[in-house]
Amino acid sequence: MTQPPDAEARRAVSPVICYPNETLATPDLALYAKARADAVKVAELRVAPRDAGCFRAPAGHFFRITSVEGPQVGDLNLWAAEDLDERFYSGKTRALHGTHITRGERMWSSFPYLRPMATVVEDTLEWYGIDAFGGSVHDVIGTRCDPYTHNLLAGGQYHHCCHSNLTRALADETGLPLHEAERHVHDVLNVFMCTGFTRDTGQYFMKASPVCPGDYLEFFAEIDLLGALSACPGGDCSAQHSSDVAVCHPLLVEVFAPAPGALDGWSSPAPNGYDRTHGRGPIAGRAG
Ligand SMILES: [Zn+2]
Repeated sequence: MTQPPDAEARRAVSPVICYPNETLATPDLALYAKARADAVKVAELRVAPRDAGCFRAPAGHFFRITSVEGPQVGDLNLWAAEDLDERFYSGKTRALHGTHITRGERMWSSFPYLRPMATVVEDTLEWYGIDAFGGSVHDVIGTRCDPYTHNLLAGGQYHHCCHSNLTRALADETGLPLHEAERHVHDVLNVFMCTGFTRDTGQYFMKASPVCPGDYLEFFAEIDLLGALSACPGGDCSAQHSSDVAVCHPLLVEVFAPAPGALDGWSSPAPNGYDRTHGRGPIAGRAG
């Protein structure tokens, strides 16, 4: 295909950030750190390799995901504890913060709620930055490994993709039938996973996670949360996933409660302020 004479000039136009985020309210990390100092552990969950588990973190609590035994990536889903309709929105989180998230950035919820669900307060892999391949850690660009894509590309039935692990965990936690629980599973935060897009073909890539046992990612729960974490069958995601080939390790989730009064001055964020009339006037019978 021939190029127009001004092709280079068109390519040379500077990019503009789609969603400048300077107007986002900044989390009070100093207050969170002070509250964390006196927080006490109230729950612990060990997620088995190629499986998932659920945990609950009430608003104002902290939850930490730690690598234990060996390098392992985790696929995280979050829901509002009392309303599975409000769930983590990977795409909008990516639009607001970029392809990977770290300390001070947030996991945002779906429409019509669009509010912070959790704020990253500590990230021992923050030093990694962006490598020479364009790779970084804790992405919101992947989806979650799943048996449908696996079937499409390789055929066969594999039952321990993160999608299925999360589905089983949510069904067990809520009592929902498996196929109903599956509808609530959504695109994840890829905890510890090192990913990016190739410069030449724009394809999603993964590489061995730099995570080592002892590394952790810790969050402050902005609202009452139900979480599910899958220890991905990809292990450290250095070679493949959606199979039983990769070496896999467990992941540890710990929940910490703040001391009474430690969060004075803080309040859980309200759902988004858009009035939802979409240009059609007030919704009849709409309350609040
Ligand atoms: Zn996975």
